[in-house]
Amino acid sequence: MNIEKLKIGVPLYLMMGPYNCDGCNAEIEVVALLAPNVLNFQDYVEGRVAIISDIVEIPPNILAEISSHNSYFRLRDARYSDSMVFANSCPHCDEMVDDFYIICEPDGPFMPMNKREARKLKLVELPIKEPFEIGAGLGRGSGEVILRFARRLEPVSP
Ligand SMILES: [Zn+2]
Repeated sequence: MNIEKLKIGVPLYLMMGPYNCDGCNAEIEVVALLAPNVLNFQDYVEGRVAIISDIVEIPPNILAEISSHNSYFRLRDARYSDSMVFANSCPHCDEMVDDFYIICEPDGPFMPMNKREARKLKLVELPIKEPFEIGAGLGRGSGEVILRFARRLEPVSP
């Protein structure tokens, strides 16, 4: 995964989907950021809905918004590199969920193959008003189909 300092415009969405933990096999909920408006990524195609993965640096207010929906998304020791990475964790056994399995794999929750699979996901717009920078990569997920067909949640009122 190519990690860069990305500049992300609004709106910003958090998506939530089911995943079976690799450690204990419990069904858990995992999250990832959906960004329809990436401002500076070299390989980014205008109009593409990006999925942000492998986050190594994140503004505290964005992390706080994610935590308000899923408190198990946090900084972990990356399995395949020396760096730390923000990742989902199992509430039952604390197993880290590598972004690769949920974003880049064809049976991962954030790579739905059709509308029916996309409808299993939930989507909420985060109350972010300004563009921001994040150290991360862009996954090759199915952002467009998720944005169109995932179930929209009402934003949490302040
Ligand atoms: Zn587990």
